[in-house]
Amino acid sequence: MPGTVERMTAMLHRKTSSMRSAAASLRGEAAAPGDKSVSHRALMLSSQAPGVTRISGLLEGEDVLNTAKALRSLGVTIRQGEVWETEGVGIGGLAESAEVLDMGNSGTSTRLLMGLVAPYPFTTFFTGDASLSKRPMKRVIEPLERMGAKITARRGHLPLAVTGAADMLPARYRLPVPSAQVKSAILLAGLNIAGKTTVIEPQATRDHTENMLRFLGFKVEVSTLSHREGDGGGRGERRPHPEGGGDVAISIHGHQRITPANHEIYVPGDPSSAAFPVVAALLCRDSRILIRNVCVNPLRAGLFTTLKEMGAKLECKNERMVGGEKVADITAETSALKGVVVPAERAPSMIDEYPILAVAAAFARGETAMHGLSELRVKESDRLAAIVESLAACGVSARAEGDSLYVKGGDVKGGATIATHFDHRIAMSFLVLGMASNDPVTVDDATAIATSFPNFVQLMNGLGAKIEMPDVGCQAPDRKASSGIHPLVIAVDGPAASGKGTLARRLAEHFGLDYLDTGSLYRAVGMKLVYAGKDPRDRAAATEAAQTIDADDLSNPRLRQEHIGQAASVVSAFPEVREALLEFQRNFARSANGAVLDGRDIGTVVCPEANFKFFVTATLYARARRRHKELSGQGIEVVFESVLDDLRERDERDGKRAIAPMKPAGDALVIDTTVLDAGEVFERACGVVEKSREAEKQHAC
Ligand code: C5P
Repeated sequence: MPGTVERMTAMLHRKTSSMRSAAASLRGEAAAPGDKSVSHRALMLSSQAPGVTRISGLLEGEDVLNTAKALRSLGVTIRQGEVWETEGVGIGGLAESAEVLDMGNSGTSTRLLMGLVAPYPFTTFFTGDASLSKRPMKRVIEPLERMGAKITARRGHLPLAVTGAADMLPARYRLPVPSAQVKSAILLAGLNIAGKTTVIEPQATRDHTENMLRFLGFKVEVSTLSHREGDGGGRGERRPHPEGGGDVAISIHGHQRITPANHEIYVPGDPSSAAFPVVAALLCRDSRILIRNVCVNPLRAGLFTTLKEMGAKLECKNERMVGGEKVADITAETSALKGVVVPAERAPSMIDEYPILAVAAAFARGETAMHGLSELRVKESDRLAAIVESLAACGVSARAEGDSLYVKGGDVKGGATIATHFDHRIAMSFLVLGMASNDPVTVDDATAIATSFPNFVQLMNGLGAKIEMPDVGCQAPDRKASSGIHPLVIAVDGPAASGKGTLARRLAEHFGLDYLDTGSLYRAVGMKLVYAGKDPRDRAAATEAAQTIDADDLSNPRLRQEHIGQAASVVSAFPEVREALLEFQRNFARSANGAVLDGRDIGTVVCPEANFKFFVTATLYARARRRHKELSGQGIEVVFESVLDDLRERDERDGKRAIAPMKPAGDALVIDTTVLDAGEVFERACGVVEKSREAEKQHAC
């Protein structure tokens, strides 16, 4: 490694979380990530259905992972994999959690779980991040208290404690604000309370809870009431259209006996996520895209209805039912939009879509008026204020009056840096705006995007967008004038025990380059936590450790221990940890001697402009055999199966994490080392580098 301990330490800190988008045109097909609402419910409700439920297409965003974590703390067995599996504990089968449930940023997880645990005679503690701690919980507290739970909350907000009782009473409750989360919390409580619990909805809200309950075999009754708040009324399956009038009563009987069964749930694509590529295609020149498998439940499709009214060339094709939900493929192409009036009644069916609709409205002819938006004031940020402020920064005339938003369309300047207030939908909406405005747009912090759409940048760029981190591309070092040859930067990525470290070291030695094993940085962070008795899942502690590691940590012999590798893979999934280590790696790559870096994301994130990129891999079994042999050679006794499990777990975590997942860069040479020895791998990689440099030398002459 170049430089002294002090220099290494000094190089180790800085932040980059902003993102910039510039003009583009979109083409191609993609599948939207799994629907967030359905993903939460798939995990929670299958935990109540006796039997094993297999869930495909689950959104592995932070919010849903928090639901899974909380359910595990409440005694539910959940296996994470390509297909997730839950083992239903049945009604009344949850166990008291010994830990505080940390819900991160997820309002849905918090409110629904509060309902689920309310009828249990124990106390469950909930906490969340700063933004969630500002969101109102009274709307759930009030009905649950009426049913008999005791809830202690900090002024109606998190943190809070729910103490349930075994003798809670069923409620008949009319929703004062249209909220699917409150409705679901009451119905979930009702599942475990003797008698009939009824929620009356003056305005239809998302019915995913009802659909999923039915899909899993529970009986849910829906009746249309003849007059507001009335008791009578005819029976109907469900409200035909979200803008239809009249109250609807949704009832559930507690303690239903359902036959144990194994279910398969296919989570449809999230319309709230599909909204971003769809609107981008409408706004960008010369664009046409198709998004597969989007949930088009009428109670979620308000944006698509509105966009069509605005003149969007948008079609829902191949409509079908999947796991109780209506699904379609959506095509969208460049369109000339016009301003419209969006009625307040439509708000519940598109409540998350107003930021992106406001962006569409900015490019439409005339004014768009959106009514009934009071809920936007209590979302992840005060979204109404954030939309107006961000549009104004991009040169768009917009105003909020009461709970209405007005946007005047026209020529959109862009060119601004948007404060996202840690709101994922504001971040994505304004990156879309930057794709069609005159000048590129930067968002100050894109990390929140992972909460709902972990592969947003990947998906958009795959369709042709130009979204990137500003000012951070790794520049290949300056030419060495005297020799006329570049100092090399070589990126070597791949999974654990693939042989990437051996290859990287040999290349460094052969070409006289500096070498950095970037895994040691993440290991150092994991080691600091483990040896301080802290949990590697503790995000704040991991971030602090990443910001304070020094060169001594990097040479600590404990770094190579197997459990430190696992801890490293846990901490490396936190965006803040990666951010804290990024600049150091990039500076290292700029070394005047040239450099080889090995890791998981060198070719994709750290040095996308490296001169050569290799992705070294081998079958899981071959790698486990190698690692097992290596450990035995060091006198460490460990069973082969546990090495295999350890690597499998690490591969999965590294490959599926929301930020910088392990994968070959598009222009990397993939070398499968399953049947090659270290010498052969080196020959192959070295041959590629030498051949190319030879050609370069010839060219220079
Ligand atoms: O390569 P090594 O096994 O030492 O890496 C330990 C862990 O650090 C990996 O499993 C991975 O989670 C993380 N890592 C990473 N990005 C890198 C290098 C390592 O996420 N560039």
